[in-house]
Amino acid sequence: MARSWGRNYHLIVEFAPNLFMAQFHSAEPMHFVIAKQPWTMGSNNLLIEWINPDEDRKFNEDYTFETLYVPIRIYGILCKIGEPSDLHLLTESMLFAKGSYILGIAKVNVLKTVKDRVRLTITESTSITAYIHYEKIGRICNFCGIMFHTVLHYSKRRELFMERIAKKQSVADIPFERFGKWMTEI
Ligand SMILES: [Zn+2]
Repeated sequence: MARSWGRNYHLIVEFAPNLFMAQFHSAEPMHFVIAKQPWTMGSNNLLIEWINPDEDRKFNEDYTFETLYVPIRIYGILCKIGEPSDLHLLTESMLFAKGSYILGIAKVNVLKTVKDRVRLTITESTSITAYIHYEKIGRICNFCGIMFHTVLHYSKRRELFMERIAKKQSVADIPFERFGKWMTEI
């Protein structure tokens, strides 16, 4: 990861586990690093927070790392006008087969649930469902819609599930996937 940043950084120090500080020679390469997010290490994403060296040093707990710039692909607008059919199972291959999408960069709060789809109203009687794919994001939970973990490692779902079973209540509303897999896979 560090190597791909080129020779423009001055110094990278790991001053707490998985917490690095990079110093740059000038603003330009630093802006490049911020604008070219998301950076990845394997299937993990690196969260970046900018600090001003002229200001007082922050404490580790002052860093929130809650913002990530993510290129998003918006599918479904160009090739699909109308409602998803209620007679046909919507599969990713149907939806993404034509491969036409709109690309944009979203500033995402990583502490909040992301959207897997948006409804766009075109006219009073027409609306489109568009589907959102997040580029280079290794994991988004298909159950709670929050980045950086998967539903398999989401203990709250398991707890909710066991609680319902114990009370002999329905678990129909707690499936593995409440959010579409297309968020990370296409
Ligand atoms: Zn989750």
